[in-house]
Amino acid sequence: MREGDNISIPMNAVAIASERRPMMRQFELVERVKSYNPDADEALLNRAYVYAMQAHGAQKRASGDPFFAHPLEVAAILTELKLDDATIVAAVLHDTIEDTAATREEIDHLFGPKIGALVDGLTKIKKLDFVSTKAKQGENFRKLLLAVAQDVRVLLVKLADRLHNMRTLHYVPEEKRKRIAEETLDIYAPLAGRMGMQGMRDELEDLAFRHLLPEAHAMISRRLAEVTERSGKIIQTIERDVMTLLRERGVPCEVKGRRKQGYSIWRKMERKSISFEQLSDIFGFRVIVERVEDCYLALGVVHTRWPMVPGRFKDYISTPKQNDYRSIHTTVIGPGSQRAELQIRTRTMHRIAEYGIAAHALYKDGLDSVVGGGLEQESLAYQWLKRTVALLTEEDNPDEFLEHTKLELFHDQVFCFTPKGRLIALPRGATPIDFAYAVHTGLGNSAVGCKVNGGTAPLISELSNGDEVEIISAPGQSPPAAWESLVVTGKARAAIRRATRSAVRRQYAGLGRQIVERAFTRADKAYADEKVKASLPRLARSSIEDVFAAVGRGEMASNDVLKAVYPGLIAEAKPAGAPESGSRQARPAKTGTAKRAGKGGVGAIPITGLEEDLPVRFAPDGGAVPGDRIVGILNPGDGITIYPIQSPALAAFENEPDRWLDVRWDVEGARGRRFPARIALQSVNEPGSLAQVTSIIAEHDGNIDNIEMRRPAPDFTDLTIDLTVWDLKHLNAILSQLRARPVINRAERVNG
Ligand code: MN
Repeated sequence: MREGDNISIPMNAVAIASERRPMMRQFELVERVKSYNPDADEALLNRAYVYAMQAHGAQKRASGDPFFAHPLEVAAILTELKLDDATIVAAVLHDTIEDTAATREEIDHLFGPKIGALVDGLTKIKKLDFVSTKAKQGENFRKLLLAVAQDVRVLLVKLADRLHNMRTLHYVPEEKRKRIAEETLDIYAPLAGRMGMQGMRDELEDLAFRHLLPEAHAMISRRLAEVTERSGKIIQTIERDVMTLLRERGVPCEVKGRRKQGYSIWRKMERKSISFEQLSDIFGFRVIVERVEDCYLALGVVHTRWPMVPGRFKDYISTPKQNDYRSIHTTVIGPGSQRAELQIRTRTMHRIAEYGIAAHALYKDGLDSVVGGGLEQESLAYQWLKRTVALLTEEDNPDEFLEHTKLELFHDQVFCFTPKGRLIALPRGATPIDFAYAVHTGLGNSAVGCKVNGGTAPLISELSNGDEVEIISAPGQSPPAAWESLVVTGKARAAIRRATRSAVRRQYAGLGRQIVERAFTRADKAYADEKVKASLPRLARSSIEDVFAAVGRGEMASNDVLKAVYPGLIAEAKPAGAPESGSRQARPAKTGTAKRAGKGGVGAIPITGLEEDLPVRFAPDGGAVPGDRIVGILNPGDGITIYPIQSPALAAFENEPDRWLDVRWDVEGARGRRFPARIALQSVNEPGSLAQVTSIIAEHDGNIDNIEMRRPAPDFTDLTIDLTVWDLKHLNAILSQLRARPVINRAERVNG
């Protein structure tokens, strides 16, 4: 769906019929243009009128009016800005390529490539979908500016197009209406303001305000009407008094009082949290003089006659605003003790204040004659526009980029592209990981690498404006949990968290399933998913995976599952992996542990080694290596810890039989992995003794992780060494080699 000028059935065609006016006729269009531009190309205008009328044919607008009325009204708005033939013709043609059978080639042929380019630029902008997300707005805004960069007249037609659509917005369905009004307030009105087109901005804002906040708009309009009625005389008095005074002092001028716009009043009330009654400057007066010197002369006269309000004086003549606005502002306690805000300016300044960049756009080569008044440099607003567009194509980002207003929302963004040219807007600091998730969650989850602008780049590099990013993905990947702290977008962070959480959950569920199946085996019952499923209500879980994950995390005992399936059985069932009576005391308890190890062949959980994210780890002080007889201790919510059965640390779990798990080494799976072990040595203190120890370990393929040294007596050093080895045989071989050296008094395994 597109903007308000699309073709649809009128929703409330009865509304505001008075706003309609008869469609402008061909000669009227020509006359309007000729009134300010006698040299206008009459034939060109006529050709455009006829061409667009035929192209749009019987198309209707949402209002029920012939569609052709819309481009004509857009052209009419631009004649008020006194724009050149090409702009007017482009306005008449602006919807033909998109909405009719017309083509760029045909328009080039009939109207020349310059007008063709203008219409083409407008067509490109028109294709932008209406969107509510800020990121998409950024994308649209960028495309808008890029199109405008070709020719600023594209922007003028676009703004006039938007203005006419806003004027007829009440025919559009409500939801779409709000979106259009919001976009107008967010983008087009500030852009018009930034281009110095104050009249355009005021009207766009007021129309958007009316549709977005109808109640606030009605309230302010009513209050303004009341105030205007009450102070009608005062306005006239001030106008007359100021004008008379200035003329007496030899400063010819015009003075015009005016009411502030509803939206700017509303914004002020919001910003300053004040009520309508507290507003002091609902009225402003414009003093239009002939020459720049007259501005200062008028200022002196006004200040001499009426006291000025401190802090309100601003000289935008010596320091123009960024949008070329020039005027002197002051507030005085004027006739009848009324506060009056005065804007003093020349005619030229007034024209620029009202029409902004449009005042410069007429006849690019005749800029001086139009602008006059000593403003010979290129319009500041146009410079700003060109700079802004340059920013979007370069990496630079000066602070003044998109100052004011909600356009700041694009300040912190980078715009990147997929290899197919799709634009992805991201916050500054975003990485290719963010990019991948912005394209598609699946792409983010399976990303393994990337290319930026054709070259390989790290996934964690910071993206810049204009980067083309290609994500290299591999199926079946899941994102490392560490990515969560490397991304800047919420979408990526949430997706990574979800993916890692579900990966960990899968591991717990896998572990839990093994624990439950083993509990069934020990109770001599055949395990079946259906049995557990049938018991889900009793277990207060919604799925079998929930049950397994709870058991794997140690939040639910495998016995509880068994009890739920076989309520009568539980008395006989032994806690999973609990030490049989006497076995712990009989340590090293060869019979007891051997018996369990033997049983482990049936139901024991195979342990392969330390894997990333696996909820399995090894005893903190001493570890465990294949060949050790091992036992698992379930840590509720934190996986299992593997201890060698002889580890003294196991004494701490003596009274918690539910936490004991039968585990065994998965010999195949453990092959090629290293496991942690700790050894304790005592060496004789002589030069090079430590070097001997470390080189023996290294020569025998042991990896040292950590060494702690203590000197209990002047002649000896105690060493505690953490290392990783392939298995128990490997560890024992290292210990034998160490013991064989004269410098080593003692070498043994901790936990061994
Ligand atoms: Mn249009």
